[in-house]
Amino acid sequence: KLSPRLAAVADLVTPGHKLADIGSDHAYLPAVLLMEGRIPAALVGEVSQGPLDNARHTVGTAGLNEKVTCRLADGLAAIEPTDGIQTVVIAGMGGLLIEKILAAGTSDQPFDQLILQPNTDQEAVRRWLVANGYAITTEKIVAEGHHRYEIIVAQPGIQDLTPTQLAFGPVLLAERDPVFVTKWELEKGRLETLLDRLKSNGQGETDKYQNLAKEYQKIKEAVFHD
Ligand code: SAM
Repeated sequence: KLSPRLAAVADLVTPGHKLADIGSDHAYLPAVLLMEGRIPAALVGEVSQGPLDNARHTVGTAGLNEKVTCRLADGLAAIEPTDGIQTVVIAGMGGLLIEKILAAGTSDQPFDQLILQPNTDQEAVRRWLVANGYAITTEKIVAEGHHRYEIIVAQPGIQDLTPTQLAFGPVLLAERDPVFVTKWELEKGRLETLLDRLKSNGQGETDKYQNLAKEYQKIKEAVFHD
């Protein structure tokens, strides 16, 4: 059974698509999708031997050797044109690493569907997508434990996003999922505490204070409309 985060990623994969899971580690995502008959075949890409062994173990025990190819490779280099990959998932990594992986491997791009789950720096991922011929079609935010995970789905297309949409997510902003509102409520609260502390320490005029105050204002306006 997949964690809420990976289950949400799985639900976004277009049924019938050939899937590449880049940085798959245990290959849980492709294994579940294949066992449930939601995709016909999958490719697992891993840059490290340990996680690749984990993936091979899952695939072997699930009896999926015929349907899954596991390759040791850096990022999208795992994908060959003859694989016919339609959906690429890159999940559970920092946004800057995801951006780097996308930017490095361009030969087969654009893919029909990208499903990205950056743990951090979501803005950098959105910025890369719209600058490189992708349009964001769906976004989700999922709570798991104390974390909130954002998932960004894109397909080839042209999209113009405002700086606010890039920062917060065009779909997330429009949909205002309670998990999304909570995420930014917490961040707003964290900044409030920080700003109060800086001010009472006599640092109310510093650059640091000004930058944090700007960030605070941005969240207030974009998410809470005040
Ligand atoms: N995708 C799974 C998930 O969301 O649960 C596993 C995430 S795990 C935290 C990150 C994995 O990405 C690690 O197994 C790591 O080896 C792999 N990874 C990091 N950089 C990579 C790269 N450039 N190419 C392929 N895999 C990479």
